[in-house]
Amino acid sequence: MSEGNHTPGPWQVGDEGPGTMTIEATDGLRNCVLAEITADIDFDDEDHANALLIAAAPDLLEACEDLTRRDFWTTHEDDCDCAACEAYRRFIGSAKVVKLVTAIRKAKGL
Ligand SMILES: [Zn+2]
Repeated sequence: MSEGNHTPGPWQVGDEGPGTMTIEATDGLRNCVLAEITADIDFDDEDHANALLIAAAPDLLEACEDLTRRDFWTTHEDDCDCAACEAYRRFIGSAKVVKLVTAIRKAKGL
């Protein structure tokens, strides 16, 4: 789980009114408005897609962090040479991980 200071998920797209829609978090009892998105005219498909992406942010961050954790892949010793440990070492040494870690750092303001 992410250790950032952001409001815990899940987040969702909330109320939409004329020129306004919200991104909300819920703790199961009450909703908290995290952000309000405004438009001069009606929202279009891109605006709705943007709102969905924002609402997915905590889930995406958690999934990205999981992928970079060794214990997500294996709980074996560091010097283990089984297939899972080899897969983790190949993944963590790949260029794609740099992009993933950069995105995590961006999301955390690091
Ligand atoms: Zn192993």
